[in-house]
Amino acid sequence: MASTPVETEIRRLIAAAGPMPVAQFMALCLAHPERGYYMTRDPLGAAGDFTTAPEISQMFGELIGLWAVSLWRLMDSPDRIHLVELGPGRGTMMRDALRAAQVVSGFVSAATIHLVEISPVLKERQRHTLGSLGLPVHWYDSLDDVPDGPLIVLANEFFDALPVHQAVKQADGWHERVVEIGRDGKFAFGVAAQPIPHFERVVPAALRLAPLDALYEWRGDHMALEIARRVVRFNGAALVIDYGHAESQDGDTLQAMGAHSFADPLRSPGSVDLTAHVDFQALRETAESMGARVRGPVGQGDFLRRLGIESRAGALKKSNTADRTVDIDVAMARLVEEDSSAMGRLFKVIAVAHPGLGPLPGFDG
Ligand code: SAH
Repeated sequence: MASTPVETEIRRLIAAAGPMPVAQFMALCLAHPERGYYMTRDPLGAAGDFTTAPEISQMFGELIGLWAVSLWRLMDSPDRIHLVELGPGRGTMMRDALRAAQVVSGFVSAATIHLVEISPVLKERQRHTLGSLGLPVHWYDSLDDVPDGPLIVLANEFFDALPVHQAVKQADGWHERVVEIGRDGKFAFGVAAQPIPHFERVVPAALRLAPLDALYEWRGDHMALEIARRVVRFNGAALVIDYGHAESQDGDTLQAMGAHSFADPLRSPGSVDLTAHVDFQALRETAESMGARVRGPVGQGDFLRRLGIESRAGALKKSNTADRTVDIDVAMARLVEEDSSAMGRLFKVIAVAHPGLGPLPGFDG
């Protein structure tokens, strides 16, 4: 197969500087400024590479919108609130959320919409999706640039796309996993020659006695720290929904998806999606270290049921034709069921909140 532009760039960097950490490889594949996966395409939907919860059913975004309204009320309905979404894809979740939130007076007029998005293609999609609402929408490349103030942050399938580091345990310590050029001239995984200094102190307690060749994944904590800093300093909360594990564990979860099938993460760099599971324990500990109060993780199925997805589905069915009724049931099952073909258990929800905020819907009973 012909090499992709990102592959050419990665080969050049490896030739110049040696094997490249997996996190750098992933960052280049996804976010290379001109040729990265997200910079050049809309990956969502049937014609793309993967489908997300808001694209499965409007019920998802609607319930998230009502969650945001409840939170705003818990904050004593401030006159101005930043409604921030990280990685909004096509803007579908925000559109559905705002439509549902309109039933409560005051929230939508208090909200300013801030979208954090690196993809020019998806920014354009979001502009199109949200344009007809007649609300001011602002775009940023980074959460750091969003103005200060009370906020509600929403992030669905965002953290899994952030670059993940991997380390492999060897007799003399943990070595960073790298991408190198194999004997056959293709990309191959390897490990850095030297162990990472003092890494035993960083690895979670559960992994200290891990056997040789165990693999541990971690992400930079800037995003979690910045979310927690803002909710503690300005009041508010963040809702993070993603697939991953509730407790830190070992194992390689780096995966590539193209055209709705798993692919080899090292082939076709920049042409397939690369993700890794979210370590919710790490997210929790980072947020708590900033003084935030963390709820969950709870399974997406339990979360959506507590927010009332069954009655929302019932209402939708009443206002639709009989053939749409089946679609609504199928969509709900995909979002909440707990078997491996559905999202209810693998996908989890966590809230990072100001410590003064009372019980949050979806988490506390
Ligand atoms: N939340 C959407 C899209 C999920 S796909 C949905 O549920 O349908 C991941 C999204 O995050 C895309 O919009 C992608 O362009 C964006 N993204 C990925 N890495 C990013 C980064 N480092 N900063 C900002 N946005 C990013």
